[in-house]
Amino acid sequence: MGMNYTWGSERRLNTYSDYFKREFGGRVQKITLDAGFTCPNRDGTSGTGGCTFCNNKAFNPSYNDPEKSIESQILQGMKFHKTRYRKATRFLAYFQAYSNTYSSLEHMQSLYEQALKVPGIIGIVVGTRPDCVDEDKLNYFQELSLKHYVTVEYGIESVINRTLQRVNRGHDVEKSLWAVRETARRGIRVGGHMIIGLPGEDRQDFLDSGRELSRWPLNNIKFHQLQIIRHTAMAREFEERPREFVSFTLEEYLELMMEIVEQLNPSIVVERIAGEVTPGMGIRDGWGIRYDRVLQAFEDLLEKHDTWQGKKFKLEE
Ligand code: SF4
Repeated sequence: MGMNYTWGSERRLNTYSDYFKREFGGRVQKITLDAGFTCPNRDGTSGTGGCTFCNNKAFNPSYNDPEKSIESQILQGMKFHKTRYRKATRFLAYFQAYSNTYSSLEHMQSLYEQALKVPGIIGIVVGTRPDCVDEDKLNYFQELSLKHYVTVEYGIESVINRTLQRVNRGHDVEKSLWAVRETARRGIRVGGHMIIGLPGEDRQDFLDSGRELSRWPLNNIKFHQLQIIRHTAMAREFEERPREFVSFTLEEYLELMMEIVEQLNPSIVVERIAGEVTPGMGIRDGWGIRYDRVLQAFEDLLEKHDTWQGKKFKLEE
């Protein structure tokens, strides 16, 4: 019999799957949607040209088509996941593509409510930019979260302003912290997305970023290694100045992630430690192994070093 960590599991990481088991008593599957939202960093509202790393098309599953209704995207997604995992019976509608709060409140409401009406959907996860929420939208999420499971997931990407400027992110770190706090303050679950390996950042920056995020009121976090997608501004930058980009073998990345996770607040659920690479999309193609194997290798590494999430976490520094 092993010991249980503070998150109530024997796993050395506060994982997303354990979290769902605690919260819902079993497996919950996310269904990715493209609700036809756009992005203010592409249309001139926050910026033009978008984030230099972005090619949003690279991340959409094939069953997503913004021309199709929310309901039919969900039904198709359910079919897809039921073939893969026969036991999936409960689902979250994941509004993933672009910035899913970038519209009028009425429009957002109608889309989320369409999703919540589909039998089997127990809640929504809404991916967006920190500068695409305001008091009214957050108050609406607060109300919705009294009846449904709601997570708002922000693209934080970096906690260093010079990096955000360099990748043309169109908002600063202060905006991210504001959005995370305002969301958490209303009792809405809040997630963050971080990229490890943006140009100009080094190993120390990655470690400091993990420590910094540990002080934010985040429920979940996703870490992704930087993927340099073809036909993006970043792909051109990488071709011109490859030395400004840290590149990791899988072993190096997992060792770095181990150090980040050791310092990470144990109450934050780690949704991912790395991103899935769509084959053929990237310039530096991935490690060639599936995410479940990456996670397994990571947990083996934690065991080998007898370490765990939050082992070196200190609240006040
Ligand atoms: S990463 Fe998100 S915010 Fe940045 S340009 Fe792409 S869709 Fe817009």
